Formats: sequence, C-alpha cells, structure tokens
Amino acid sequence: MLFYSTRTPGIKASLEEAVFRSLPPDNGLYMPETIPSISDAFMDSIEQRTFNEIAVEVAHTLLRDDISRADMEQIVARSFSFEAPVREITPDDYVLELFHGPSMAFKDFGARFMASLMSYFLAKSQKEIKILVATSGDTGGAVAQGFFQVPGISVTILYPSGKVSEIQEKQLTTLGHNVTAIEVQGTFDDCQRLVKEAFLDEDLNQKFNLASANSINIARLIPQAFYYFAAYAQLKHRGKPLVFSVPSGNFGNISAGLLAYAMGLPAAQFVASTNRNNVVPAYLQSGQYQPQPSVETISNAMDVGSPSNFVRMTRFFGDDWQKVQQKISGFYFDDDQTRQTMRELFEQTGYVLCPHSAVAYRGLQAYRDRSGQDFTGVFLATAHPAKFLDLVESTLGQAIEVPNRLKELLSLKKEAIPMGTSFEEFKDLIIN
Ligand SMILES: *Cc1c(COP(=O)(O)O)cnc(C)c1O
Repeated sequence: MLFYSTRTPGIKASLEEAVFRSLPPDNGLYMPETIPSISDAFMDSIEQRTFNEIAVEVAHTLLRDDISRADMEQIVARSFSFEAPVREITPDDYVLELFHGPSMAFKDFGARFMASLMSYFLAKSQKEIKILVATSGDTGGAVAQGFFQVPGISVTILYPSGKVSEIQEKQLTTLGHNVTAIEVQGTFDDCQRLVKEAFLDEDLNQKFNLASANSINIARLIPQAFYYFAAYAQLKHRGKPLVFSVPSGNFGNISAGLLAYAMGLPAAQFVASTNRNNVVPAYLQSGQYQPQPSVETISNAMDVGSPSNFVRMTRFFGDDWQKVQQKISGFYFDDDQTRQTMRELFEQTGYVLCPHSAVAYRGLQAYRDRSGQDFTGVFLATAHPAKFLDLVESTLGQAIEVPNRLKELLSLKKEAIPMGTSFEEFKDLIIN
C-alpha cells in the first residue's frame, strides 16, 4: 500500500516512511492510495470474531503488501489487551466504550498500534529512535503508555507545568524506564516550539533518529477503524441501520469511521458532535469552511478551531460538500447543554458520562429528533468519566466510582525534570 499526500498526490510514501515521517514534506496528510474492502465472507461471520481478530482482518486487508498476516497478528496482540465493548443505554441507543485502555481514553488505540508498528519496523532495521512529544494533556498519557517499554524507542514528553490535570500529570511522570517527562515552566506553545526546534537542529539530528508521534500519523488513524467494525459485530443482530455519533475535535476519530465505511462497514450515517468549537457543523450547514481560534470548554480535548484531519474527512468524499453533508450530520452544544445531558442520563439510567461522551450522546439524540427515522444509535465514549473527576462530581452533585487503576496512579510518585523555556537548555538535556 502506498500513501499519497493530500496536497500533492504525486508525493507518495511507503507505510514505513509514512509512519516515521508522520507528515509528507509538503505538510499535507497521508492517505491510502486505494481502499480495499473487507471480504463478504468475513462480514458474514463478523459477530463471531473477537476484537483482535477483527483488528487483524481490517489491518491485513489494508496492509497485506507491507506486513504478513502472521506479523500483523503479533502487532495487534502486542497493541490491544483491552476491549471496545458496546452497552445498551436506552432502547435503540448504545454506547461504544473506548476507555478501557491504559490511559483510559480512546487515544490508546492509536498510540498503542503506532508504537507496535514502529517497533516492528525498528526490529528489522536494528535502529533506535527517540520520540519527542509536546502535550497539553491527553495525548501525552496515551503516547507515554503506548511506547512504555517498547524496544528500540525512548520517549521524551514535554508538558506545561501546572496546566495539566493531576491524573494527566501522573500518567506522564510515573512510568520511568524509556519514558522521560520534562516539566516546562511555560505554556503548551513553548513545549511545541521546543519540539519543533529540535526537529530542525542539525546536532540533534546527527546524534539521534528523532521521530514524532503526531496525532495525524496514519498509524494512529488505521487502528481507530477497528472499533467501528467491532461495534457493528456486536450490534449486527439488531438488523437496523447503524448511526454513529462521534465527539470530535481534530476529526481523526470520525475520519477513521469513514475509512471503515469505505472498507465496507454498513454505517447509515455519521454524526459529528462538537462543543462550541463548531467549524465543522457550520461547514456541513453552509459549505464554507472557516477555521476559528479555539474557545475553552469543559470538553477540552475537543477545543480545536482548525481541525487537523478536516482535509482527510472531506477527501473520503472527493472533497465534494454535497456528498459530505449527506453522510455526516453536524450538531454542537455549549457547556450548559453538556452538563444537562450528563445529569439527565445519570438520573434516568445511572450511567456516568465524561463531558466529551455527553456531547456525542446529545448529538445522537438531536439526529434522532431531526431525522425521525428508526435506527440503532451508537455514540462513542472517548474517556472514562473519572479522568475528569471534579467536573463530573460537581455536575452530578455526588461522588462517582473511581477505578482502582486511577486511585493507584494518584498514589505514585511524580518524576519529572524541571526546565525553563530556552532551546539550549532543552538540547543539553537531551544530549546528556
Ligand atoms: C482527542 C479526544 C477527542 C477528539 O477526538 P478527535 O479525533 O480529535 O476528533 C474526544 N474525546 C476525548 C476524550 C479526546 O481525548
């Protein structure tokens, strides 16, 4: 499989190149050149398959020229020791829980698979690489856990001091081994600038094989298609059309759903659910795409005003707005509506939503009201509610259950290297 750049279709890369570069040299996004379909035989018996069997089939269908089935089985086994269960919430409405991985957010699927894939290629070439990441919160945790103890890879994570939640900080700073956390006395922008400068620095590039674990890496997109098929497998017996509501920020998750659809997933409709950062719902309405500065909300992992996967999302439809808005419906909600939804579902059913998942649930309801159709609705729950403990408890007005894994994490000792914002200091630190 070759991957082409969305900006210059003539620029192509192998899987290995696309994975280690993250971005094509023209700053477009890598897209698969062709999209093969899952076989009818597999779809006919998908309900009998485990999550990992589905993952192997989807990945192998896409990447069969690059990686043997036996190797893909190992890559998948190394990546996923957690499930993506579907639960009934109300008649016709289901939640796809994507928070059972090590960092308790859906980004684990992408980060774990990317790490296993890089490690597979590195083992063949005997190379060692150093991953540099700047994080404002959630990505860092998933990447740290994803690359933890992966042979041939060391990870350095920069985060802004005092600007990530306690749980997020503990997820970055308590692993040790091949994961080093640097606590920058500055902002997220400072962290990002330091990482960018490092990639441009000649000395560092001579000494190390630097790589990024950027969220637009194609190796993070592909594994997110697996759980759409896994949801279908669990709901196929209902025999109704399937509608997926996806809580969206950079639109990677929904793009993965579209990849699954292009490979033959029978999805009747996608709902793009956002907070007040509503550039995509506005685009679906008007056909005009106008990126905006981001605004802060309680679903902060979706506070994105210029979604990096927008181009990927529309490319699945040949960039034709008419086609995009037939398949994707958009809704957005403010913080009051998000809180209200969290309270209502809790009072009706006892189910606790994180703010991101609440936006998705409300988007599904809005689509149900507008379409007036009969379907099975699935909304994606992207993080465990206990990751946002204070917010969730103050919204519901009562204490919620905290998984042991998170409690243990909070009792571990933080280990981070404090640093200022100068590049020279950062460079010294990496070299020594
Ligand atoms: C990153 C994130 C999102 C947004 O996903 P995109 O792929 O960027 O659209 C939603 N919810 C949570 C909890 C996240 O961490």
